[in-house]
Amino acid sequence: MFNKVLIANRGEIALRVLRACKELGIATVAVHSTADSEAMHVRLADESVCIGPPPARDSYLNIHEILAACEITGADAIHPGYGFLSENAKFAEILEAHDIAFIGPTAEHIRIMGDKIEAKNTAKRLGIPVVPGSDGEVTDEETARRVADEIGYPVLIKAASGGGGRGMKVARSRADLAEALHTARSEAKAAFGDDAVYIEKYLGKPRHIEIQVMGDGKGGGVHLGDRDCSLQRRHQKVLEEANSPALNDEQREKIGEICANAIRDLGYAGAGTVEFLYEDGEFYFIEMNTRLQVEHPVTEMITGIDLVNEQLRVASGGGLSFTQADVTFSGHAIECRINAEHPETFVPSPGRITYYHPPGGLGVRVDSGVYQGYSIPPNYDSLIGKLIVHGRNRVECLMRLRRALDEYVVDGINTTLPLFRELVSNTDIQDGEYNIHWLEHYLAQKA
Ligand code: ADP
Repeated sequence: MFNKVLIANRGEIALRVLRACKELGIATVAVHSTADSEAMHVRLADESVCIGPPPARDSYLNIHEILAACEITGADAIHPGYGFLSENAKFAEILEAHDIAFIGPTAEHIRIMGDKIEAKNTAKRLGIPVVPGSDGEVTDEETARRVADEIGYPVLIKAASGGGGRGMKVARSRADLAEALHTARSEAKAAFGDDAVYIEKYLGKPRHIEIQVMGDGKGGGVHLGDRDCSLQRRHQKVLEEANSPALNDEQREKIGEICANAIRDLGYAGAGTVEFLYEDGEFYFIEMNTRLQVEHPVTEMITGIDLVNEQLRVASGGGLSFTQADVTFSGHAIECRINAEHPETFVPSPGRITYYHPPGGLGVRVDSGVYQGYSIPPNYDSLIGKLIVHGRNRVECLMRLRRALDEYVVDGINTTLPLFRELVSNTDIQDGEYNIHWLEHYLAQKA
């Protein structure tokens, strides 16, 4: 096992990784920007190093400074968390060249899955069902028209290098296609420095269902069931649950096994998520994330498996502590992403938290790096915490969630807590009857 792990991240995920390290007796190094010197991950780590000014590109994305921090402190591994450098193949390669372990898959696997066209082709080859669409990149109107006629409108034009729900354009009919193609290409170029786009069938009312996988890096691999992340705003997840209320055990087992087989074939190492859209009983692969995800706790709550602990084991060469036969699902879990944002306009609300009281009690988990008196800097993502609740079944989970949301107090800034208080009382949510457009419709009706 590693002696010392540097955590190249901030906020709740830095704390999450730190906790797993502490439980394994591994020393921790926090890195931080000048905006984060008062952050909880800095306070709780054994050592900390300031790596630059507030803008992420000068600090949390600054590979040179992070390597220097590693050298100064003698850390033998780096956990990248999610976001920032977590899916940067070059970073993984540089660490390898410096004999520092990257807690994640190989640079090659990150690269394959980071290019959505290559990822889709790989998925297809591995026997994973994909969304019908173009074979690869589409550059000209004629090809776009041919592909769209073949799969039928509406179609979605997506950026090969896209991420975070950005770089997507819908064409409802032939008349929209040329313009959608051009806008998508120029937007992709501006946002990702790569104008490669591809076309796929636009699914009208799918759910977003993803499978958590873990590979031991030696050809072994397992799945840990699914998560339903259909509640989204602007293609970004807002609330996640495990397991999906839309699947039965047989469907879950079948798609899980397909994904576990695929990662065994790949020889994948560590945690990954295979993301699907699900409509009318069919799964359609959209992408694979080669890292720990924000919503991983709902899987931990129903399986009892600590995913970060397993990541550390695999990266240090020790393999997984469990087999597929050991994975059982118990009860139901829901996560709410609490953002420092206005609950109706979603305008970010950085600033000082004047009073803070997180909920507690049986089955309640809060993953957050904030505290009373803490000032949320304006430079980063607005996620300030995750409320995760477990119950013996979905009904108990929802009752407990409502109770925990009522207890949660964050004063001094706006948060999305009031939105979740509304959502738990909504009958569609209670019935599990929602797709990826549900929340947008709900918000539009309210406005
Ligand atoms: P990103 O990497 O930006 O998150 P994804 O491919 O994972 O991109 O897609 C993000 C979200 O966009 C999905 O959860 C879904 O809401 C929507 N989406 C993606 N592909 C399609 C599609 N073919 N049809 C309908 N919606 C889609």
